[in-house]
Amino acid sequence: MLRNISKIVTQKANFATAAAPAPQTNPEILYTGLFINNEWVKSSDGKTFQTVNPANGKVIADVQQAGQADVEQAVQAANEAFKLGSPWRRMDASQRGLLINKLASLVERDATYLASLETLDNGKPYQASYFHDVAAVVKSLRYYAGWADKNHGYTLPADGNYFAYTRPEPVGVCGQIIPWNFPLLMAAWKLGPALAAGCSLVLKPAEQTPLTALYIAQLVKEAGFPAGVVNVLPGFGDVGAAIVAHPKIDKVAFTGSTEVGKLIQRGAADSMKRITLELGGKSPNIIFADADLNAAVEQAHHALFYNMGQCCTAGSRTFVQDKIYDKFVELAAQRAAKRRVGDPFHHETDHGPQIDGEQQNKILSLIETGKQQGAKLETGGSRAGDVGYYVQPTVFSNVQDHMDIARTEIFGPVQQVLRFSDVDEVIERANNTEYGLAAAVYTKDLDRANYVTQALRAGTVWVNDYNVFCNQVPFGGFKQSGLGRENGPYGIRNYVENKSVLVKLTAKNS
Ligand code: NAP
Ligand code: MG
Repeated sequence: MLRNISKIVTQKANFATAAAPAPQTNPEILYTGLFINNEWVKSSDGKTFQTVNPANGKVIADVQQAGQADVEQAVQAANEAFKLGSPWRRMDASQRGLLINKLASLVERDATYLASLETLDNGKPYQASYFHDVAAVVKSLRYYAGWADKNHGYTLPADGNYFAYTRPEPVGVCGQIIPWNFPLLMAAWKLGPALAAGCSLVLKPAEQTPLTALYIAQLVKEAGFPAGVVNVLPGFGDVGAAIVAHPKIDKVAFTGSTEVGKLIQRGAADSMKRITLELGGKSPNIIFADADLNAAVEQAHHALFYNMGQCCTAGSRTFVQDKIYDKFVELAAQRAAKRRVGDPFHHETDHGPQIDGEQQNKILSLIETGKQQGAKLETGGSRAGDVGYYVQPTVFSNVQDHMDIARTEIFGPVQQVLRFSDVDEVIERANNTEYGLAAAVYTKDLDRANYVTQALRAGTVWVNDYNVFCNQVPFGGFKQSGLGRENGPYGIRNYVENKSVLVKLTAKNS
């Protein structure tokens, strides 16, 4: 399966321009196999599965479906690559950084193709795929490329008879399981720190969106990573479970639902694998009456509707102080109704389909529950069109804390606006959830912003903004939103075991 470069290469990405290069609306699908030991292979049992374009429900390609035997092969390849004395383990740390940077450059080179493929397989608007996802992949890889040769240990003032130092060693062979909402970006968040630390890995993309991770695998090979360092296995949850259970996997990194996160934690317990989990949320977005109303409406809109509401950080409980509540609801509904729903390849579309029929049905059924339980539907509420998995941008007012739509992670374009009166009341209600991923507070009062920020039990709190991500800033959840942090120095620590070495100093015989 050779890559036909002329069809892929367009022009080096320029993420600073106003408009993305024209998309490839029918990108050639080049890689649909399993990527093991730098080779493209078929699944051992011959099984395949279909990946579908969520904008029209049509099959894009048949993809090889990994099974137990393939997990075995991939884990073996990753273990070989990780053996002491292997090319990967002997490689100078700065060379690892150069390889990660090379991978970032190849992503930049093929940005138009990758953004097009992401839009085809996932349904997100092409403008977002290009300017947000692909651009963020490049930045994330470059950030961790810089870490590769700066991950140093310490010398320690032990007893004077010993020379003591620490060695930050790679944690080993990693299993990385990623979701469908940001297929490329989640692959980059997993690959960058693991490779910078010197680990080898087996990555499983989500069954709904395998294509861009497979293309990245080919770029890994082109960049010159030794065989077996990166292996990619498209498939279903059983492949993820087999990776988690495998005794020769040292660490599992997972992004996805809290439900599967719990299965992973249980599955990893027997062999005491290191785990990091980035899970779900029901994030509060608190808007006080003194906030800039128009800006708050706009930002609360993006906090929820970005990526069709399929964000773990979605600001899905919009708490608005009673003095501005009615006006806010009116403006929020108007704003949602203006959302441009349509073909994700069209340059004016900012709202594509949900990922699949299952998610579409789950969202529509939660909307029905919202109506039955007494929330007021302000706009939307139905599927959009009759082709593909679209859901209308939906806004509910008069939402009460006990309602299902205020407690369940909907993962769709449904904004819930809740009313509050005072600061301590809203803090208590905001924290009254099993989740703790993100939160935001809008106010011009600095003291109040600081007070609320300290009181909120969430891994990230934004003040007068939402969904601001930065490679240098750690990201992860309190409570059932996860374990550990990605990004920043914390992100690489997940992939490191610290070894302490004490060397006896013998007095010199003169
Ligand atoms: P999910 O099941 O948690 O999927 C995430 C990844 O885990 C996929 O690669 C999935 O494989 C894999 N997986 C499934 N079962 C597994 C198991 N037993 N052991 C190991 N890996 C396993 O999420 P989903 O079913 O796609 O979506 C359901 C809900 O999860 C959404 O409605 C949303 O609430 C939440 N979600 C959250 C995030 C997030 O970013 N936090 C992302 C996606 C979904 P396959 O999908 O290929 O079978
Ligand atoms: Mg798909």
